[in-house]
Amino acid sequence: PKSAAIVGSGIAGIAAAVRLAVKEYEVDVFEANAYPGGKLSGFGQDGFRFDAGPSLFTMPQLVDELFQLAGRNPKDYFDYIRLDETCRYFWDDGTRLTAWADRTAFAREVETNLGESAEHLLAHLDDSATKYAITEKLFLHRSLHKLSTWVNRDALHGYLNLPKLEVFKTMNRANEQRFQNPKLVQFFNRYATYNGSDPYQTPATMNIIPHLEYNIGAFFPRNGMIGITNSLVRLAEELGVRFHFNTRVTKLVTEGERIVGVVTEGAEPRLYDTVVSNMDVVSTFRKLLPNARQPERILRQPKSSSGLIFYWGIKREFSELGLHNIFFSNDYRTEFDRIFNGKTLSDDPTVYLNITSKHKPDDAPPGCENWFILINAPNNSGQDWDALIARTRQQVIRKLSQNLGVDVAALIACESILDPRSIESRTSSSQGALYGNSSNNRFAAFLRHANFSHQFRNLYFVGGSVHPGGGIPLCLLSAKIATDLI
Ligand code: FAD
Repeated sequence: PKSAAIVGSGIAGIAAAVRLAVKEYEVDVFEANAYPGGKLSGFGQDGFRFDAGPSLFTMPQLVDELFQLAGRNPKDYFDYIRLDETCRYFWDDGTRLTAWADRTAFAREVETNLGESAEHLLAHLDDSATKYAITEKLFLHRSLHKLSTWVNRDALHGYLNLPKLEVFKTMNRANEQRFQNPKLVQFFNRYATYNGSDPYQTPATMNIIPHLEYNIGAFFPRNGMIGITNSLVRLAEELGVRFHFNTRVTKLVTEGERIVGVVTEGAEPRLYDTVVSNMDVVSTFRKLLPNARQPERILRQPKSSSGLIFYWGIKREFSELGLHNIFFSNDYRTEFDRIFNGKTLSDDPTVYLNITSKHKPDDAPPGCENWFILINAPNNSGQDWDALIARTRQQVIRKLSQNLGVDVAALIACESILDPRSIESRTSSSQGALYGNSSNNRFAAFLRHANFSHQFRNLYFVGGSVHPGGGIPLCLLSAKIATDLI
């Protein structure tokens, strides 16, 4: 059989391993950390369990598909529920909004709480569905870097509908034109953060994102987000994939136009027919292929935002909170200006609070909750993070205490922190970006690296730093595109 080495066990690396094992490759996955999953991992502390990175699960069918490909019943490995309520929103002036999965219920809530007509909301969700339909076949399931993608019936349909993607307008502009209430503009602008972009720069095309949540649905894996990683690792191992933890790849061995093997720390080169890098593409070129031609234009694209995460064990339960909660800043434009232009944090950051113990009570001791708090942050360019973290921690406590009417600081039983520096060092992501390149540029889709190498015939790329982009669904699609090409 043919052999493949995969550098990294992020979600895309694991998905690629499953797909290649199904094609009867002998697969070795090399992982620098002691655990699989990269950003999609988890940990325990003082009786609390936390998912380390992603908290929102969309497009579960892309995970199911991997079990089905291997002839398994997904439900034997991995189970999830569809959420009735996608997120609870809080503004400092006391306005509250629950985003219901059911469109009619959501539209009614928007009318009652924000005074915006249901028609505007439904038109927006329909527009989001249209944008998705246009881009899906063209951008998401195929390589953008193969002629066949551009000359077929789906592509023709795509070209005719390109104006509907609104690439020449910003997301914020389109949302201001749609909605009268600035709070609803802010609400929909937030979707730019789902791929680490700035709503005041990114094209209105990104209004595609709400489609995933409202028209397809938001889901919760019964075993927490870590359940995605664990169940896929189990499947991969059953298919014969070998995982090598604590094993960092330090070099790819080249011979002319081919990669012939990988070198891991302190070991002899191992030879493979195919190599798939799930390491950030910038780090792959800079660290593993320093002598190869560097695709500078692609590697130097501005990166997405990063995040500052507080994991708090909280000694109380809050009935007014749900699984996903947002506490909005009072000045969204300034917040993004600080992050993307000032490369710093806002004084009044929007606070995202995720509590998995709402659906999975054993994630916290009785009467307690596991709080995952994410603040959008600039990517790492050597800021004084310790000072920024200390300041932001106080602001987060103040905002949550004010909204919940309690002293949150007194309820914190344990704490861990993740910041752009540690995201970078733990996953090799360039500048600690959560989603690879930012999508602020309207040509961003064309400025991500392809899923194959133009220089080395048997080198492929998967993960959030390459086509089609970051986030679990797109990472899973990158593995599909790359292994289809193999
Ligand atoms: P990564 O997770 O980046 O992992 C790469 C792996 O490769 C790591 O394990 C690393 O150790 C290993 N590696 C790198 N170099 C080497 C080497 N040389 N040798 C061996 N191993 C190596 N997405 C969503 O869909 N929903 C969300 O709600 C969401 N929220 C997020 C919140 C946070 C805080 C973060 C950090 C991310 C979030 N994301 C979310 C994004 C999502 O986590 C990522 O897009 C996705 O998990 C990236 O997967 P990946 O396959 O690119 O690999």
